[in-house]
Amino acid sequence: MARMPISFLGHGNPMNAIQTNSWTEAWAKLGRELPQPRAILSVSAHWYVPGCRVSAEERPRTIHDFGGFPRALYQVQYPAPGSPALAARVRDLLAPASVEMDQSWGLDHGTWSLLVHMYQGAQIPVVQLGIDETLPAREHFALARRLRPLREEGVLILGSGDVVHNLHTYAWGRKIVEPYDWALAFEGRIRRLIEAHDFDPVVDYESMGEEAALSAPTPDHFLPLLYVLAQVEREDAISFPVEGFDGGSVSMLGVLAEPQRR
Ligand code: ZN
Repeated sequence: MARMPISFLGHGNPMNAIQTNSWTEAWAKLGRELPQPRAILSVSAHWYVPGCRVSAEERPRTIHDFGGFPRALYQVQYPAPGSPALAARVRDLLAPASVEMDQSWGLDHGTWSLLVHMYQGAQIPVVQLGIDETLPAREHFALARRLRPLREEGVLILGSGDVVHNLHTYAWGRKIVEPYDWALAFEGRIRRLIEAHDFDPVVDYESMGEEAALSAPTPDHFLPLLYVLAQVEREDAISFPVEGFDGGSVSMLGVLAEPQRR
């Protein structure tokens, strides 16, 4: 089986799940153009919990893990099957780390707000991998590297977060807001490092000073990027199929790494 691409996507505001805009259109295009995966392993910013766990349900429920949004958003269902077999494979690959086979979480909006656009039919099995909040960034990267065989097994590893995610400065409900200088600077720096396959400083992003402190005030939305970069091979081509900022301080940047096209 050919090596699967891997992708990190900025999911932004949960409302993207029920809207159509340039970002959601780019997600849908990816779903059409990427090789059809056998299963999806999603690393979502919104499952940031103590300890390592993987969703092992046959039928994961769609959870609406947010407050104060319109009713239509709570009615979204993404009835994709789970894959206990993939969950077990992930657990085995991550050994000797202890990984709990979770039966309670389901799919959170970090996962389904993207997948409702990428794979509308909800037919591809989806497993979520939790982000252990007790680990430093470097250990996440090392852990994620153990998942590399999955690319050869038809699994699409999808990271869902935001390279820049500061809700204190986010302009709720106001569409046209220029990004903050620190947000543009941080995203630009991360982007150039990714383009150069220079992932070490990205893993070490917390040492990037005030730009980093403002752009990633908590690690949850940044760490999914490291899970994706850890899968990248030297010979992969890297592109940015989604770009832009929402509300001044949420980056919608998407990263795609795939085997070089001939
Ligand atoms: Zn989020």
